[in-house]
Amino acid sequence: MKFQPKASHFIDGEYVESIAGKTIEVIYPATGETIAQLQAATPAIVEKALQSAAAAQKAWAAMTGTERGRILRRAADILRTRNYDLSVIETHDTGKPIQETLVADASAGADALEYFGGLAGSLTGEYIPLANGDFAYTIREPLGVCVGIGAWNYPIQIACFKAAPALACGNVMVFKPSETTPLSALKLAEVLMEAGAPKGIFNVVQGYGEVGSALVSDRRVAKVSLTGSVPTGRKVYAAAAQGMKHVTMELGGKSPLIIFDDADLDNAISGAIIGNFYSSGQICSNGTRVFVQKGIKTAFLDRLSARLITAKIGDPMEPEVNFGPMVSERQMEIVKAYIVKGVEEGARLAFGGRQLDRPGFYLEPTVFADVSDDMAIAREEIFGPVMSVLDFDTEEEVLVRANATEFGLAAGVFTKDLSRAHRVAKEFQAGTCYINTYNLAPAEAPFGGSKLSGVGRENSKLAINHFSEMKTVYISMNDLRAPY
Ligand code: NDP
Repeated sequence: MKFQPKASHFIDGEYVESIAGKTIEVIYPATGETIAQLQAATPAIVEKALQSAAAAQKAWAAMTGTERGRILRRAADILRTRNYDLSVIETHDTGKPIQETLVADASAGADALEYFGGLAGSLTGEYIPLANGDFAYTIREPLGVCVGIGAWNYPIQIACFKAAPALACGNVMVFKPSETTPLSALKLAEVLMEAGAPKGIFNVVQGYGEVGSALVSDRRVAKVSLTGSVPTGRKVYAAAAQGMKHVTMELGGKSPLIIFDDADLDNAISGAIIGNFYSSGQICSNGTRVFVQKGIKTAFLDRLSARLITAKIGDPMEPEVNFGPMVSERQMEIVKAYIVKGVEEGARLAFGGRQLDRPGFYLEPTVFADVSDDMAIAREEIFGPVMSVLDFDTEEEVLVRANATEFGLAAGVFTKDLSRAHRVAKEFQAGTCYINTYNLAPAEAPFGGSKLSGVGRENSKLAINHFSEMKTVYISMNDLRAPY
């Protein structure tokens, strides 16, 4: 098989196999063919990974931040030199077009490694002056063994977004990719070792939810960072709470994208396309509730349809293809059921809606118009190429409706009115907001959700606080008096 790794797991600096676990079939979503076969971790493999990580942590934390950072930055360079090969793997694992994976996956992961590698040498505590010459200082300490659990839409990017800040702070990580996309995290482990990382600081174990669950509940684990759905987030958060572990939860969304009638319409349509159909709509922060001010509704829908017709749907390995299959048959069926539901609920199918008559898991980019707030397609995360267009009259009205969701991951606004843009961004109940753009997540800026969409932030200096804690040391410069 073309993408068969040396073995299923990567522990203590080397590939490790165990044939006693469940089989994981890795499917190329464009054809349905099996491209690799892996084995889920057994309890013995999970134990081996945790033991190796725990044993490696002290020495890794004892290195200077500058030394750790140098290794992370070297890993970033190696990822970049292998970007094409890694993109080919990611395209076969996820089905995303090669023109996307070349720019948004290993390369974004490399950015995170470079960014946190650069920060590692400057992670310090502070000096705090107190009364009468006394003082305190703080020591920034790593948390210890961290567990990373990934979703299937951005496998190597998610692995890097978690590993880079964790390792920069002196933690070690055991990472479990989604069983749907298990391949590229193994490559990241290889690259880190090649970059000079000590063995054991980044271990990869494969498996289904039960492997994730075993990792989360282990007493040696100090922190869990999950990217996944809200239902999984609830389970993982609850399990982590038993051990009072730190958590970062990057979960789902149903984000609003508001287009006012003064917006540059072509830019707004570009934003709606990027925010709904990139990666065949399988992006957590997508602006899937597109609120369009009534006066421009017809023009918006007409121009949107004219542009969607030009999407190049096909073999994701073809460089000009810009719309690929869904990640799996299961996910495609979930999305198809939502399309049926949308029609049943009375929304108007304005574009697409069909499965393509070809092998693989292809759905057309799909647009529903005349959607109302109470419809399931406007309330629930679909995680596929389905845009819901809703009309609105006023700013006050649309803000109330935009925020009337239990999610709070992202939100966007298109308008030429600068004051309104900032006013709306201020009112959005969401962790990440966009003005006249959509769906950026650079290493330098915080990313994450509020409400049910998550806890904590990835990327930026803020991520350091989620992978370290402060120890406070008080020093008296005076004689000490006691009451008796
Ligand atoms: P899931 O929630 O189904 O799975 C996420 C990961 O958690 C998988 O590796 C899964 O393993 C694992 N898992 C499942 N059950 C448990 C458990 N009880 N304990 C520990 N781990 C468990 O999400 P998907 O993979 O389907 O990804 C899609 C979701 O991810 C969407 O909701 C999307 O919005 C969200 N997402 C959020 C992002 C963000 O940054 N906010 C970014 C990308 C996606 P297994 O697959 O084997 O079940």
